[in-house]
Amino acid sequence: MSKNCSLAETGELLKAAKKLVIVSHVSPDGDTLGSSLALMHALRALGKDVIMNVDDDISTVYSFLPGIQEYRRFGADETIEADLLVIIDASSADRAGNAMEVVRPGAVLNIDHHKTNTRFADYLYLDSDAAATAEIIYALLLEMGTEFTTDIATCIYEGIYTDTGSFKYSNTTSKTMETAAALLKHGVNPSLVSDNMELRSRSQVEMLRKVLETLTFLKDGKIAYIEIAPELYDRNVDTDAFISYPRYIEGVEIALLFKQPEENLTRVSFRSKEIDVAKIAVSFGGGGHKKAAGCSIYAPMKEAEKIVLQAVEDLFV
Ligand code: AMP
Ligand code: MN
Ligand code: MN
Repeated sequence: MSKNCSLAETGELLKAAKKLVIVSHVSPDGDTLGSSLALMHALRALGKDVIMNVDDDISTVYSFLPGIQEYRRFGADETIEADLLVIIDASSADRAGNAMEVVRPGAVLNIDHHKTNTRFADYLYLDSDAAATAEIIYALLLEMGTEFTTDIATCIYEGIYTDTGSFKYSNTTSKTMETAAALLKHGVNPSLVSDNMELRSRSQVEMLRKVLETLTFLKDGKIAYIEIAPELYDRNVDTDAFISYPRYIEGVEIALLFKQPEENLTRVSFRSKEIDVAKIAVSFGGGGHKKAAGCSIYAPMKEAEKIVLQAVEDLFV
């Protein structure tokens, strides 16, 4: 069970540490990467020793983020001493990959915005009303008196851009827009971010063409799902945007995407218009938000599909 921290207490914990390891969650997205990098830049400006970690590949889509080259993956037999292990935008320990085993920290701090947070860290700053963890990081850095460079502002903007679907999902609030406006004043170039985020590689579009052929409807079109066949799966191809195709079909209430990154591991993404898909994801050991959630199932894709689709269909009886 974690100790809940205020923003001021979170800032004090960070300032008191000399050596910190910042961890982004596995299957890294723009929020976990942008939030972690903004914090890295701010802490390094204070003279801190900061190690960046993610236990996964990072899509080349994020190559434009200032500082992205600082990330490293830990070997399973490594041991790293640190004053503070900071886990960003992750709602459970497994999302941190091997960092909890490799790092021997004085304490673990988790900064997150998932209502499904499992309170696994020693200290927790959780705001489930925040549109993105990056929105929390903005408030935290203000609290800490950080000087907002264009690099820091760009990383925070990226996090908010990702989790709000470029300022259009229902989590977008007036505060989100005010934060974005402040970030623009600190030099963010919105078209630099969107040009990078919207860019598609040819291999990605070619994969999408094949994936769309798998589009299947259940329950009179209330459920739609697509799958990335194991022989098609390529860890170098970013597939995060694929789920928006079944998601925005008229009449679809729940959309799913299945992929099998390893032989006995299936990753499932859920999106909904109103139904709480975080509940379903949690029932399979995952997490997320009401309208966007995910889980990992330790089974081949076809087997995982069977059990997950059954659970989703049961919502409509
Ligand atoms: P995704 O479908 O991967 O874009 O994820 C949608 C949301 O669900 C994000 O907020 C993720 O952090 C969360 N999520 C995805 N997979 C998992 C998982 N295996 N465990 C916990 N949360 C997850
Ligand atoms: Mn995330
Ligand atoms: Mn997030």
